[in-house]
Amino acid sequence: MTHKSLTILGATGSVGLSTLDLVRRSPDGYSVTVLTANERVKELASLCREFKPELAVIGNPDRYHELCEQLRDTGIQCAAGSDALAGAAAEPSDMVVAAIVGAAGLRPVLAAVRRGATIALANKECLVCAGDFMMQEVEQYGAQLLPVDSEHNAIFQVLDTKSPASIKKLTLTASGGPFLNRDTATLAVVTPAEAVAHPNWDMGAKISVDSATLMNKGLEVIEAYHLFPVEKEQISVIVHPQSVIHSMVEYIDGSTLAQLGSPDMRIPIASCLAWPERMHTPAKQLDLAAIGSLTFQEPDYGKFKCLALARDALAAGGAAPAILNAANEVAVEAFLGGYIGFNDIASTVEKTLTKCDMKEPHSLSNVFEIDDEARRIAASLLQ
Ligand code: NAD
Ligand code: MG
Repeated sequence: MTHKSLTILGATGSVGLSTLDLVRRSPDGYSVTVLTANERVKELASLCREFKPELAVIGNPDRYHELCEQLRDTGIQCAAGSDALAGAAAEPSDMVVAAIVGAAGLRPVLAAVRRGATIALANKECLVCAGDFMMQEVEQYGAQLLPVDSEHNAIFQVLDTKSPASIKKLTLTASGGPFLNRDTATLAVVTPAEAVAHPNWDMGAKISVDSATLMNKGLEVIEAYHLFPVEKEQISVIVHPQSVIHSMVEYIDGSTLAQLGSPDMRIPIASCLAWPERMHTPAKQLDLAAIGSLTFQEPDYGKFKCLALARDALAAGGAAPAILNAANEVAVEAFLGGYIGFNDIASTVEKTLTKCDMKEPHSLSNVFEIDDEARRIAASLLQ
């Protein structure tokens, strides 16, 4: 096995920590060059003491002195702010793990793309808000995207990229989230604590709420459209509550190939870290006899409006996916803060899409203009 050095953007989050858990178990295979976080200085400093990167970056510039103080006598270089995050992603390393949540990850990911990096991409929002632009840059700079998102990682593992014409359909599986079997009439009063209690996966707060609204699956449909050589209509979603089949590719001859595994993010992360080889993980072995049965059902687009809104935004194209993403980020934050109800997430996104009249983005600054404007409108709707 060849040794790889890693840049981990969003090291203190759920994906970041799962990545570091694999590094900890495979010290000969992996080392860390850069670690970043947004607010959690103490956690970042403690990870730095353990993994000894060359550079540590904290997103919030107000925490810079605290970080320097914590890492005094370690020899680790410290930096802060959004320029430093993008700069960190541009530093040489064998692989960038892009695990920042939200559109905040866009600039750092783009910086990594522009140095032609191999990127293990968890940060789906950057493809949702700037997918066309991002994929052009990936092509231009010869970067390699390895999908961390479990569904896309599954497809990546079973997709025959050499003959795209033989692909009939991609099917993304969805657990259905914590409210799959809950009466629609009671959704208005569910609490943030109930929404983040995912039945199968242990994830950050934002993606957990997205999983409860099924916006996550909508964002993933858009992500899949940009990552794989298929048309929008060739991507379907099926609810599969056991989260054992992580996604499937159907070919024109009627064969369907799927990837299965325990719902443990260390499996898709390991698949990226070791790619094109494989590495050991401590994930629980899949015991199909113990699971007994795998079930499937159509998603309820009426109950989970966010999934329908995301599909419509992809179909509409132009600025719509970026508007959808920005409005969703604002609404989810308001929901987690206890300011709005669960159903207000979908209605805020829907109204923002109607009110925000922006043209298709052709540059990074266009994407940020759309993102800013959609956030402003969404926030004003919440007043
Ligand atoms: P998380 O909230 O647990 O962690 C987010 C990380 O990003 C933290 O390290 C935080 O410090 C950093 N961060 C947050 N805001 C930032 C900002 N403005 N600037 C710089 N850094 C910032 O999130 P997560 O669950 O690990 O998810 C990370 C990404 O991976 C998301 O895009 C999510 O959709 C995707 N993803 C996560 C999972 C999962 O199992 N958690 C699965 C698939 C995809
Ligand atoms: Mg996923």
